Amino acid sequence: MVRVRVSVGTLAAAGLESIRLSAEPGLAYIMQYSDVGCLASCAFCPQARTSRSPKNLLSRVLWPEVTLTAEFLTALARRFSRACLQSVIKEGFIEELREIVRLVSGAGLKVSLSVTPLPRNLLKEFRNAGVDYLGVGLDAASEDVAKLVRKPYSWGRYWEFIRDGVSVFGRGHVIVHIIVGLGEAPEDLLNTITEARDAGADVSLFAFTPVRGTPLYGVRGPPNLRYYRFAQIAAHLIIDEGLNWRDFTVFRGRDPLIRRDYVDLNNVWRYVLVRGCPGCNRPFYTESPAGERMYNYPTPEFATAEAERIRVSVEQVLA
Ligand code: SF4
Repeated sequence: MVRVRVSVGTLAAAGLESIRLSAEPGLAYIMQYSDVGCLASCAFCPQARTSRSPKNLLSRVLWPEVTLTAEFLTALARRFSRACLQSVIKEGFIEELREIVRLVSGAGLKVSLSVTPLPRNLLKEFRNAGVDYLGVGLDAASEDVAKLVRKPYSWGRYWEFIRDGVSVFGRGHVIVHIIVGLGEAPEDLLNTITEARDAGADVSLFAFTPVRGTPLYGVRGPPNLRYYRFAQIAAHLIIDEGLNWRDFTVFRGRDPLIRRDYVDLNNVWRYVLVRGCPGCNRPFYTESPAGERMYNYPTPEFATAEAERIRVSVEQVLA
């Protein structure tokens, strides 16, 4: 029997955990289980073996341990049509991923697989087993930041993997994960989003979340909301509208701003929704529902209800 971790929101939405949810997850979020953690040492990640965080945490979300029984898979399939499967590096993790993909896909869920660089032939194998979206944890917005936070593969290897992923899964089916606020220059962030678009990929943005027990906890704080709003609007303009960032960005000192005429202030919700695979909304993954900094919104309804608050935060990054 394969053991995995499943986000507590996923369990609650499937009726397997009784907690009240402010917003239901759009996907079943599943993570590979490892009691010692991931063999990589990413400095922001509670799953890294080098962190002293409890291993039932990823970002600020709890991930209880679950066995992939037939009953459990049936309960997931009743509620969800897609699963997001997050891998960790451990002995035999590829073999185990094959088995998890077989079980989850066999239960009728589409599978988005988020994994560290693999050979292209393995990507084809996963595609044939039911995976149709690939997540790539590039995480850093520049090569220097990648080295600083100790990503397990070289910058070049991640980009080779992104291009291989697009050739196997198709344009728009590779989602490059970028953590905003790890110390990158805004230009690096803009260039990396552009490079992802030009490779045929999309991006998913995460606000850096300091988690107790990780090396970055107490060293670096979460990004300010203004910078995060800038990143969200820039990602929309670069990827969804195909623009060159030099056309819409101006700098006030080192602060990047967006030229006002590029932004639709009547529909600000479109900039702040979670980007990612179809249905992905990661409710409150990097923010508390009661917190003052709402980086990402899980649903259009949630964002529309806070339209005025979002509009005020968007106004602050306009030139
Ligand atoms: S490779 Fe992924 S799971 Fe492993 S430590 Fe790095 S971010 Fe965490």
